[in-house]
Amino acid sequence: DAKRNGKMRFSTFSPKMAEWEKKKLSIENAIREGMEYNRFETHFQPKINCETGEIIGVEALARLRDKHGQLVSPADFIPIAQEYGVLEYITYIVTEQSCQLLQILGDPGFGASVNISPSQLSDLRLIVDIRKILHRYGIETRQIEFEVTEEELIINEFAAKNNLEFIREFGFKTALDDFGAGYSSLGYLKKFRFDTLKLDQIFINTEDYASAASIAVIRSIKALAITLGMEIVAEGVETQNQVDLMQSLGIRNIQGYYYSKPVTAEAFIELYRANKSNIESVYTVQQLAL
Ligand code: C2E
Ligand code: MG
Ligand code: MG
Ligand code: MG
Repeated sequence: DAKRNGKMRFSTFSPKMAEWEKKKLSIENAIREGMEYNRFETHFQPKINCETGEIIGVEALARLRDKHGQLVSPADFIPIAQEYGVLEYITYIVTEQSCQLLQILGDPGFGASVNISPSQLSDLRLIVDIRKILHRYGIETRQIEFEVTEEELIINEFAAKNNLEFIREFGFKTALDDFGAGYSSLGYLKKFRFDTLKLDQIFINTEDYASAASIAVIRSIKALAITLGMEIVAEGVETQNQVDLMQSLGIRNIQGYYYSKPVTAEAFIELYRANKSNIESVYTVQQLAL
């Protein structure tokens, strides 16, 4: 009977559903036109070491403009692109633009993170094709880190483990994204080896982020990351207070609006160069003082 009710609900006209259908249709159009007229772009958000102020890495984030030049959120277009089988196209663009950026920055010690969908983890041809893109730009595999969320790890543990190992054997770095937002089984941290654990912004962007309970949770995740040899990056850091809290917990690496929103490649290059010369002058001053 419950099943019947469920079906009934689906066939009943709902203004909300109609609205979503309309939105979905406009996103589909934006994706199709985006592919036709090259309206996909990549924005870049720095990760910084909040102790030194140094930009230590960058996350590449897909962007799509509709025909009015308005940005469509990746949270909206990524799932639809996946449904239509064109997510690969977006991943190539993001990877290629990341390689272009890294080539311009010219520091083989500096890397970029690219998000891949859980299902792409098992597309080993994609990984090999990405390897070829890196070759074209003279970028080392260790300069690219794949960020994955935990869904796929749960759906097919065995395959995910093998595929992650395959990716790591190439020399790519791996990060577990949005840790704390989903299932966050601590067991997975032991089973799968990741270079980086990204602490989801859900910990930081809440009213009670500084409560004793929140701090205890972050502290234990941090301890676990250390024990398992993972770097930890706090996402969604927006305020000085949040920076201070992270620092007091020994979490140095942060990403968030506090330092910068995701910006265009051009803007990122400027940000990076200014940051580098800033850091250098700080070192010079320190050395003079010695
Ligand atoms: P994510 O990988 O967890 O990326 C971080 C998201 O948090 C980004 O949203 C970023 O703009 C946002 N963010 C960064 N700092 C702050 C902050 O201080 N405060 C707040 N409120 N937000 C902050 P964005 O760019 O809208 O991307 C959303 C999600 O879409 C990403 O989450 C990622 O899961 C997905 N995505 C983006 N680009 C790609 C892509 O190329 N491929 C795949 N598969 N997914 C992508
Ligand atoms: Mg990410
Ligand atoms: Mg994230
Ligand atoms: Mg996310």
